[in-house]
Amino acid sequence: MRYRLQRFFWGRNGFDALANTVMVASLVVMIASGFIPIPILGLFLYMVSFAGLIYSYFRCFSRNLVRRRQENFRFKEFFRVRKLKWKERKSYRYFKCPHCKAWMRVPKGRGEITVTCRACRFRFDKKS
Ligand SMILES: [Zn+2]
Repeated sequence: MRYRLQRFFWGRNGFDALANTVMVASLVVMIASGFIPIPILGLFLYMVSFAGLIYSYFRCFSRNLVRRRQENFRFKEFFRVRKLKWKERKSYRYFKCPHCKAWMRVPKGRGEITVTCRACRFRFDKKS
């Protein structure tokens, strides 16, 4: 039985951080939707959470590992950058490169400066 399960999951994405988060959020919304006094809103939330559950299973069984890992990476990156921005909000300013959308930071309080993107060498002015 275990062997067959392992073989089934071989080459599939499995539960990653994104799938887990979507699943937990969906279950929470699904339970909460039962307590909403407006029937149409409750039904809507139930359907949204159901779609979320299907999506997390789709991720788990997907064989397109390259795409799924990219999505999972971007998902984790989203929270990592926000956490960093909050932690360093007094000493650094964070913004995206207007050319390649890479995140970068500059020390705060230097006035108008010219920034060069490390990823694509694009130069632009920014107030720090
Ligand atoms: Zn750039």
